[in-house]
Amino acid sequence: MIDIASNLTQVRAELPAGVRLVAVSKYHPAEAILEAYRAGQRVFGESKAQELQAKHDALPKDIEWHFIGHLQTNKVKYIAPYVALIHSIDSPHLLAEVDRQAAKAGRTVDCLLQVHIAREETKFGFTPDECRQYLASGQWQRLAHVRLCGLMGMATNTDDMRQVRQEFQALATLFGEVRSEWFAQSPWFKELSMGMSHDYHEAIAAGSTLVRIGSHIFGERNYINP
Ligand SMILES: *Cc1c(COP(=O)(O)O)cnc(C)c1O
Repeated sequence: MIDIASNLTQVRAELPAGVRLVAVSKYHPAEAILEAYRAGQRVFGESKAQELQAKHDALPKDIEWHFIGHLQTNKVKYIAPYVALIHSIDSPHLLAEVDRQAAKAGRTVDCLLQVHIAREETKFGFTPDECRQYLASGQWQRLAHVRLCGLMGMATNTDDMRQVRQEFQALATLFGEVRSEWFAQSPWFKELSMGMSHDYHEAIAAGSTLVRIGSHIFGERNYINP
């Protein structure tokens, strides 16, 4: 039996001050989220726009919803009115669409640029050079309804923790570099989203401020019957 409340207590006890927990509830039912909610958790992460919308409608309104998965531009409209942070901006085009939909909803949406740091080919995101080039282009400065708050990345899915640590350190270095270059006057640019169930200790050691933890809290996901 999965004990969500005690899993949460255990994870929270391991987080240093300044590191926030995003409880990744994708594919888990509303009841599981409520169990975590009753145990005091308020920040949840989802990776499908329509699933997030259904949960947002059904669950308490003081939940802070984060979007963490690949976001198709035609789905932005489902989440723009309420999403608290989009971790996974993986193209200039997507950021422009978030800006458009946020304007329609009369808000400013906080976003992170997702940077590809893993060895795997399939993960989405800017390469470090694309990230630098995009920031240097200044395009994002014309988007009045999005606010860039930091970077997000996923390490290679491997048991080689030396590799994982190197990737997290590379992202932390890039974060420091772009912050001093473009965001020195922007105190909101402070989030480094990295670390999942199997590698959050390494991520925290490298300077993560937001860990995205799912299976360690909620158990394995059932992809067949979400
Ligand atoms: C699913 C997911 C997580 C959580 O993964 P766990 O291994 O269950 O902790 C974190 N980040 C992203 C981007 C995800 O898609």
